[in-house]
Amino acid sequence: MRAVDILMKKRAGETLTEAEIRFIIDGYVKGEIPDYQISALLMAIFFRGMTAKETAILTEAMLDSGDRMDLSGIPGPFVDKHSTGGVGDKISLPLAPMVAACGVKVPMMSGRALGHTGGTLDKLESIPGYRTSLELSEFRKGLIEDGFAMTGQTARVVPADKKLYALRDVTATVESIPLITASILSKKAAEGADGIVFDVKCGSGAFMKTYNDARALASSLVATGSAMGKHVVAVLTDMSQPLGYKVGNFLEIEETLDCLEGKGPQDVMELTFRLGAWMLVLGGAAETIEEGRARCEEAISSGAALERFYRNVIRQGGNVGEMLERRGSWRSNFARELKAENDGYIESIDALDIGLAGVYLGVGRNRTEDNVSPTAGFIFERKRGDLVKKGDRIAIAYGKDEESLDPAMVLAHKAVSISKEAPQPLSLVIEEITAP
Ligand code: URA
Repeated sequence: MRAVDILMKKRAGETLTEAEIRFIIDGYVKGEIPDYQISALLMAIFFRGMTAKETAILTEAMLDSGDRMDLSGIPGPFVDKHSTGGVGDKISLPLAPMVAACGVKVPMMSGRALGHTGGTLDKLESIPGYRTSLELSEFRKGLIEDGFAMTGQTARVVPADKKLYALRDVTATVESIPLITASILSKKAAEGADGIVFDVKCGSGAFMKTYNDARALASSLVATGSAMGKHVVAVLTDMSQPLGYKVGNFLEIEETLDCLEGKGPQDVMELTFRLGAWMLVLGGAAETIEEGRARCEEAISSGAALERFYRNVIRQGGNVGEMLERRGSWRSNFARELKAENDGYIESIDALDIGLAGVYLGVGRNRTEDNVSPTAGFIFERKRGDLVKKGDRIAIAYGKDEESLDPAMVLAHKAVSISKEAPQPLSLVIEEITAP
């Protein structure tokens, strides 16, 4: 087999065979096929696309390039959630213990903040002592004893994706639905989950900004996941404004505690219950979404989900006492107020601008090697639809230092638009796509 023949085939819009796709992925990971040929193939895929079957084969081939989490001997079901990333999106943090408390195990491998989107690992690491890099034996023990565990990806998980993603980044081929699908699904499948709920974000703060793009990705994830024998569902959700009232690392741990105590912000609770209900249905622990939701609500109101969260914090080296002591008071000394510039209704608080402001403040990072600050971020006091008077405080911004506040506040002011008319209510859950 020759890479150039496979390239010509995809350039002509033909369907590649399993042997051809595996030849490419294996050859690339081993360093036998050079970047320039893979770059050309990526561009051909970008323009010509891939069938659902080709995408599933590509996903499997990428998955086979590295290690899989060995969950053998642990009774399931195992169900995870994947979010395509957003601003103030802390849903994984209350969701995992809540679902675990309902009897479905959650083997969660998460990522770090990058660009304007936050990262679950950075949020968890703001808890004093918390470790996110677990040995397999620790991960397994957490799953067995607490029903969930939270870890980062090791270099051995889907190495094909690391190489391909870096190449896509510099060859203008990131925004290809089959390539995104294979990238996301291969990493999720490596965790060993039988079921996956995809939270596909849509709006300014999302990877997919438009409804059509988000829907296309959601449909592809569901079609490919099902073709791989997984139980999957995709929930399209709004990411035009930040989720909840707090955006930041420790700030989002605080909001997680509020959710686990049943007093979290309405949007965060709604999404946590909806995604949790789907996880229970996919894991066979509930017959219907309504039953799943009722069980999730019970896990919160009984305190069972909060208790699981504490158990996980202790297991992963975190100090619950210190976390609770710092709650509500651990703030950066560098703070500034964001005030309303006019009277009227808040029409929008743009998620992308707030996410980019967060990078300046130290919530997120531009390069993987940058550090983040645990105490940086925004606390919003008003959200979309609220009536304000000129000079009313909308939010407080906390920066890693004084200088970070200047560019962040320019973006924060730009994020807010105020209108004379009350905006139409937004639906947080836009659509749900289930397997046929
Ligand atoms: N997120 C991923 O993990 N992969 C992509 O290709 C795009 C977003």
